[in-house]
Amino acid sequence: MTAAIIDGKAIAATLRGKVAGEVARLKRDHGVTPGLAVVLVGNDPASEVYVRSKSKAVVEAGMAPCDFKLPATASEQEVLALVARLNADPAVSGILVQLPLPPQIDSQKVIAAIDPMKDVDGFHPVNVGRLSIGLPALAPCTPTGCVMLAKSARSSLAGLEAVVIGRSNIVGKPVAQLLLAENATVTIAHSKTRDLPDLCRRADILIAAIGKPELVRGDWLKPGATVIDVGINRVAGEGGKSKIVGDVAFDEARNVAGAITPVPGGVGPMTIACLLLNTVRAACALNKLQAPSV
Ligand code: NDP
Repeated sequence: MTAAIIDGKAIAATLRGKVAGEVARLKRDHGVTPGLAVVLVGNDPASEVYVRSKSKAVVEAGMAPCDFKLPATASEQEVLALVARLNADPAVSGILVQLPLPPQIDSQKVIAAIDPMKDVDGFHPVNVGRLSIGLPALAPCTPTGCVMLAKSARSSLAGLEAVVIGRSNIVGKPVAQLLLAENATVTIAHSKTRDLPDLCRRADILIAAIGKPELVRGDWLKPGATVIDVGINRVAGEGGKSKIVGDVAFDEARNVAGAITPVPGGVGPMTIACLLLNTVRAACALNKLQAPSV
């Protein structure tokens, strides 16, 4: 079997187009322009690249960007004061504080200070709680993207066995909650899980969010499984150059899986598209307007 490739780039482009349509509708019919405030503290190069691509995507979707850069020496009080200002600003529909934060700043304290209605990363305890009890919530972007990709390969996830490898608060746990909400039967695996290969062989849907290059081998997969590879790992490539690989050994897996996301070009592009979607959702909720249909 050769797996179908789940084209995250194309699916994300379609989603971004729909979001741009919703933004245009909000402006035209309600005079509302969704605005995303991105707060970057310090100069972590990976964060800087990510923040730049978010801001570009925000502009392309027709939203108002609003970027804040604080020095690496900024105090927790300064960051909290900025968050309070953004919470009170009606032009700001979504607030994203780029993680990781410098060590003098307590990330959990900053996340908890964001208005849950503007928490487009979906990390605030209120949104985490709402997601877990099945209430409407701003759900984290990468997990939302993972489930959209899985649903692009299987129209319904109901009753399917889903195995999520990874239990982080930003990917593993929320993706498990979202799969549960789709009525999948969900197992969460982690570094202490016994016989991981055997567990994976049960999975109709396998989500790998580990951060270990090509840990998941082809013979760990159930034939026909849908494989969503969240991992982003930089490894040595040919000619001394580095390359990015996922958590799944793609060349082996594509001979067994029914559908698989590539790395890059799978989950990655969905994260920003879902961030834009969350910003539009937040703008609708803040203005008591109907949520977008996407
Ligand atoms: P974390 O390091 O926070 O979590 C990794 C998880 O993998 C942990 O739960 C850990 O278990 C588990 N794990 C580690 N080693 C093993 C093992 N040998 N067997 C089974 N489980 C194991 O990572 P994140 O969740 O933040 O990210 C995971 C990957 O996804 C990374 O490569 C990251 O770069 C990528 N990522 C990609 C995004 C995108 O947009 N495409 C967005 C976010 C992340 P334990 O809890 O026991 O330690």
